[in-house]
Amino acid sequence: MATCEHAVAAGGKTAPQQFEENNLSEAKRVIAVLSGKGGVGKSFVTGSLAVELARRGNKVGILDADITGPSIPKMLGMSGRHASGIGNLLLPEVSTTGIKVMSSNLLLANETDPVLWRGPVIAGAIRQFWSDTSWGPLDYLLVDMPPGTGDVALTVFQSLPVDGIVVVTSPQDLVSMIVAKAVNMADKMNVPILGIIENMSYITCPDCGKKIEVFGPSKLNEVAEGYGVKVLGRLPIDPSLALACDAGAIEEALPADLLPDAIAACEAVEPHEGEVAGENA
Ligand code: ADP
Repeated sequence: MATCEHAVAAGGKTAPQQFEENNLSEAKRVIAVLSGKGGVGKSFVTGSLAVELARRGNKVGILDADITGPSIPKMLGMSGRHASGIGNLLLPEVSTTGIKVMSSNLLLANETDPVLWRGPVIAGAIRQFWSDTSWGPLDYLLVDMPPGTGDVALTVFQSLPVDGIVVVTSPQDLVSMIVAKAVNMADKMNVPILGIIENMSYITCPDCGKKIEVFGPSKLNEVAEGYGVKVLGRLPIDPSLALACDAGAIEEALPADLLPDAIAACEAVEPHEGEVAGENA
């Protein structure tokens, strides 16, 4: 687990300290899902990993740190819902299959309200989602990161005890630049990159089943090899999944075992042991 020491090493003496976990929460593994830019399917991958981990009997939470573009509640059928509270703590909303979610969308009066928050307010929201949210015991807390590898993402990394990073790219990305930036950030934070997933990698012809690489042959393998990072999977463009996400039905629609290598990488992260106070399991 990254410590405050690492955060300070990464950002100098003024680097923010990690936020404290409250005594009603115990996340055994904290895994961040990162992308170089928005729209590549980072949230979709976060949601997919959460669904598969939950199907395997794990207690799973998603901390939606994509504060200004939150899409996790919608894909898990939580549109229009609002987080409630208990004492001074917020309670995550719970999906049909038991995935707990905290997101700026669950705190807005209307989910279509724009979130125009700047850096410090975003950092405050992340603190609320971590320190002031009663998560209970979790085998996995997935963090849907803000898009990009800039300041906002760095602040989130410095604030949360992230154990591993999954990088999501798409074939239109400048993959080598994104991987370089992610590797750089991970090094600074002393957090391992678990691997890379290429989303929207190809389409499958509905008639003959052939894979068509719409954006040309993938460069993912050679880039990943160059940086010593694992490839955790390639996902097709699947219109039925886009529709399912829009309809809040990813839990029912997600094919079984879509990302086996990514799930194995999450499972390989060493869990932290601890005890959670109270009944909030
Ligand atoms: P990000 O979190 O990177 O901004 P999202 O996960 O919100 O991106 O995805 C952007 C849009 O693309 C969403 O409408 C989502 O449902 C859709 N999408 C993501 N991945 C796929 C995929 N493999 N096939 C079809 N649609 C996808």
